[in-house]
Amino acid sequence: MISADLHLHTCHSYDSATSLKDVVRGCRRAGIDCVAVTDHNTIAGALRLRDSDEIRVIVGEEISTVEGELLGLFLTQPIPRGLSAVASIDLVHAQGGLVCIPHPLGRKPFSPEVDMGDTRDGRYVPSERVTSANRLLTEEVIGRVDMLEVINARTPFANTWASARRLAELCRLPLTAGSDAHTAGEIGRARVQMPDFTDARTFLNALRDARPSGARSSVLVHFASMYAKLGRRGCSE
Ligand SMILES: [Zn+2]
Repeated sequence: MISADLHLHTCHSYDSATSLKDVVRGCRRAGIDCVAVTDHNTIAGALRLRDSDEIRVIVGEEISTVEGELLGLFLTQPIPRGLSAVASIDLVHAQGGLVCIPHPLGRKPFSPEVDMGDTRDGRYVPSERVTSANRLLTEEVIGRVDMLEVINARTPFANTWASARRLAELCRLPLTAGSDAHTAGEIGRARVQMPDFTDARTFLNALRDARPSGARSSVLVHFASMYAKLGRRGCSE
């Protein structure tokens, strides 16, 4: 089994100041064997870190689509921002990548007790409450994505984790977890323990036997992101 943090930002994101060296140090400290680097709308930092051979990297991107943010993993080319979710998903799949919906129920409380929809003819049909919590959660988008992030260390409310897990069960999608670290100290705060893999296809298979876990980061981490935005001084490698 390996430990993987499947959602993390570096100084190649506008709201993070973490250098690539600090990502490597943070992963070693936290016992992370493999990291998905998912900067906002760029894969430049992920490619650079992968090519340094310092740590095992899944090249990813947090893609800003019209309806909300998606994670593309196993990318070879960046996905442009501002496209529809469906068009973005198709571009990721066309290059052999995988798509995850990060923090699917957002950063507000969402009780697992509310009506979350049901399954008709083997397809999940989300309730209005679910779609209004995140515009990405439509039948069409859910039917196309490969996995759902059920633990994101930056979500402040515990009940969104339980609700996201319930959502993944209804959708019958594999579960992922990630720290969404924007600072080095957050790295590894959420992770999956999973069987080893060699490529996107075997990764997806391995996720079926993965165990996501995590602890919520302090709300103070959001101030660190704000500070990184205000104090941008370029990206030291
Ligand atoms: Zn993120």
